[in-house]
Amino acid sequence: MTGLPETTELLAELIAYPTISPDSNLDMIACLANYLEAAGAHVEVLQDGTGRKANLFARIGPEVPGGIMLSGHTDVVPVADQDWTSDPFRMRADDAKLYGRGSCDMKGFIAASVAMAPLFADRALKKPVYFAFTHDEEVGCLGAQALVEVLRGRELLPDMAIVGEPTSMRIIEGHKGCCEYSTHFTGLEGHGSSPDHGVNAVEFAVRYVNRLMELKEALKTRAPVGGAFEPPWTTINTGALIGGVAHNVIPGRAQVDWEMRPVQKSDADFVRGDLHRYCEEVLLPAMRSVSPDASIETEVVGEVDGLIPTSENEARDIVMELTGANGAGLVPFGTEAGLFQDLGMSVVVCGPGSIEQAHKPDEFIELTQMGQCLGLLERLSQRLS
Ligand SMILES: [Zn+2]
Repeated sequence: MTGLPETTELLAELIAYPTISPDSNLDMIACLANYLEAAGAHVEVLQDGTGRKANLFARIGPEVPGGIMLSGHTDVVPVADQDWTSDPFRMRADDAKLYGRGSCDMKGFIAASVAMAPLFADRALKKPVYFAFTHDEEVGCLGAQALVEVLRGRELLPDMAIVGEPTSMRIIEGHKGCCEYSTHFTGLEGHGSSPDHGVNAVEFAVRYVNRLMELKEALKTRAPVGGAFEPPWTTINTGALIGGVAHNVIPGRAQVDWEMRPVQKSDADFVRGDLHRYCEEVLLPAMRSVSPDASIETEVVGEVDGLIPTSENEARDIVMELTGANGAGLVPFGTEAGLFQDLGMSVVVCGPGSIEQAHKPDEFIELTQMGQCLGLLERLSQRLS
């Protein structure tokens, strides 16, 4: 298989960068930038505000609108408290499998893309191929959000994207979004014998949860016709309700941890809008009639856009044609794909390795999967030329 030794070697190099989300990814980005520049790519390294993280955006091929973007995240999940057979940051090859943190999620796809860069550069491409490697995907797609802001409004943009998350090379055209929030209630503490002299934060949190339960039912009636997700509507889950100290104390603080998985953007706006009005018009006036300092603050833990399946999707059609697949599916996990779709690209998720191994000890990728991915990239390079 063309490129397999190069890919394996590069993957070993990438796994050796311990790019756990809170830590810097600059060394790995510099390494990728070197390889891409050596292949003749036009490379941009876009640092974040902290100066410890960067996205990479690169182009091979002509400066014309359109083309296809190969996208992956550089960060990996932690290895602490996991029982690994060998050093997670030293690639181990065994039984046609390559082991190491990030091998399938998703340095394998990045290694394959970059190893094929010289091949893309050798072809007379009619449309460019782009490489987009981001930081902080595992903690809420922060890098991709920043990249999308940089790209928004540019004239030279890819119109298609392949997000190489591990799908065992299956073609994925949709996933729900995932929005996680912690809503903090600040009331006024007091003695349990005089409830009217305090603001019971737990009681207001309970009313908020009640509203979430009403919204959860209302969302069922908003399910798009013919929706393929399971279930086909946007869901809400109240994951934790925290607050209070003792039977006879009015609790001054409470917290509700909740999530929503939207099947369409309008549902997320509907829920957020309804809750905002409910707090402003009902809960807060009642709380502030006793304590002017009372507050309700919603902290965004993460907001990952869904990838909405659409009847027209050129990226999906091309990848189906190049792999000979006869269908596309859905996955229950989130990716950066929705952000790129929001930018106007047609997007498909397709990458080597299985999500079964992602985030687990002894994470691995099978060599046959790497081979299939390289085959797809090789056919893609022909298709673009
Ligand atoms: Zn991933």
